[in-house]
Amino acid sequence: MRQIDHWIAGKTTAGSSQRRAPVWNPATGEQQAEVALASRDDVDAAVAAARDAFVEWSQASLSTRTRVLFAFRELVNANVGRIAEAITDEHGKVLSDARGEVQRGLEVVEFACGIPQLLKGDFSAQVSTGVDLFSFREPLGVCVGITPFNFPAMVPMWMFPVAIACGNTFVLKPSERDPSASLILAELWAEAGLPEGVFNVLHGDKEAVDGLLDHPDVAAVSFVGSTPIAKYIHGRASQEGKRVQALGGAKNHAIVLPDADLDYTADHLVAAAFGSAGERCMAISAAVVLGGAADELVGRVSEKARAVKVGSGRDAGSEMGPVVTAQARDRILGLIDAGEQQGARISVDGRGLSVPEHEGGFFVGPTVIDEVTPEMDVYREEIFGPVLSMVRMDDVDAAIDLINANPYGNGTAIFTGSGEAARRFQRGVRVGMIGVNVPIPVPMAYYSFGGWKDSLFGEHHIHGPEGVSFYTRAKVITARWPHVDQAAHQAAQFSFPTAR
Ligand code: NAD
Repeated sequence: MRQIDHWIAGKTTAGSSQRRAPVWNPATGEQQAEVALASRDDVDAAVAAARDAFVEWSQASLSTRTRVLFAFRELVNANVGRIAEAITDEHGKVLSDARGEVQRGLEVVEFACGIPQLLKGDFSAQVSTGVDLFSFREPLGVCVGITPFNFPAMVPMWMFPVAIACGNTFVLKPSERDPSASLILAELWAEAGLPEGVFNVLHGDKEAVDGLLDHPDVAAVSFVGSTPIAKYIHGRASQEGKRVQALGGAKNHAIVLPDADLDYTADHLVAAAFGSAGERCMAISAAVVLGGAADELVGRVSEKARAVKVGSGRDAGSEMGPVVTAQARDRILGLIDAGEQQGARISVDGRGLSVPEHEGGFFVGPTVIDEVTPEMDVYREEIFGPVLSMVRMDDVDAAIDLINANPYGNGTAIFTGSGEAARRFQRGVRVGMIGVNVPIPVPMAYYSFGGWKDSLFGEHHIHGPEGVSFYTRAKVITARWPHVDQAAHQAAQFSFPTAR
């Protein structure tokens, strides 16, 4: 069985723990590797490597850091295919989708290449007579990233390019379900000339995570994953005095007005619900259809859903691959059953799908559930699978109220031909990322990504300007260089100093 090890201080290591977890090939249902699960000693080794490397890396000039980032950018770009294959083999998503996620991660590296510009401080001359005031930002120290299975390259790349560009060192704890992409990225960093210990990969489960959260030498924690774990990470790391950003789960609604172009909308809803088998935190999982558009839209969406080509992610003809594990598949099937039992109408049924030559794979076919109401489990739960619920409502304000009553607030979209309705929607919903005729409104790397409510705990969204702010802290300097003759006129005051 292939062994997947940690990457600490510039080399692979099996670590000291005997604990290992299986890594599956979701398209075949077979185990393909074993990943090491870190012990507390392994946590200590990774954090010590990062702490030691911080001494020099935090002092490296902006030119030095930028050169390494540009070299890393070139190497990732040259290896997109290799990284995408590792993602497809462990996650299951189709290769074109895996390439897309690497590309979106690469955009954050490109953003981070501009770090000399991003770290410019402010300067105000003569704020008082003979006194100047200026500010700059410094790195925090050892930063940790704990990431989910659904984007094994992109989500880590939301974090570490910015953290490292700012002068921090990094320990990545990727998902144990698809750990290989992070190791390719570690090798590429080494080839780009990043000093040993600046970027480390520590595989593991709760034991590794808790070790990192409690470690006194960890300064900041970035987390992306499900809401219960995000809440836990935010609480525990904050308690330990660390800076934390913890992005959680989602239930993303698209509302469709009768004046929308229904064919365009159906196309985009199907891609946004079933792309990556619905395992995206920005997937559309509930379509709220208003007024008379419902029957026609459900019909068109169902027709397109039936036409989605499901198969191995390695097969060039596939549009949708399997879900990540057998447990994920069984949970999704259970929720579809619950929807049926609770009175919803299964318009397209993905249960019982068998893919020829991949009968053991973890497949669920695209599923469209109509006449869903807010009390049903299919509406309330984040399904994280290829299931689209259709909710029928009467007007925009009721749809906005429904979205605002939902505990999550990651993404949402409106499909309409009315600018007035779109504007009312974008101002009325309590959600972090909003699309207007755009189903998956993921901001570009030079903006920041983040939801509201139970989709994010902490003050900072991820990457973009808020990423730079998260991974640095400010110093403000007030400086006077008195001339010998002036010194007599600048005597110290006992009253609180004010500008003169
Ligand atoms: P998860 O919460 O199960 O795991 C995320 C990370 O936390 C993994 O590295 C895992 O090893 C670790 N972890 C799991 N259980 C833990 C525990 N009890 N204690 C400490 N650490 C633990 O999430 P997942 O299933 O890998 O990913 C899917 C979830 O991530 C979905 O809810 C999805 O919406 C969310 N997600 C959110 C965003 C976003 O931007 N908001 C992006 C991608 C994924």
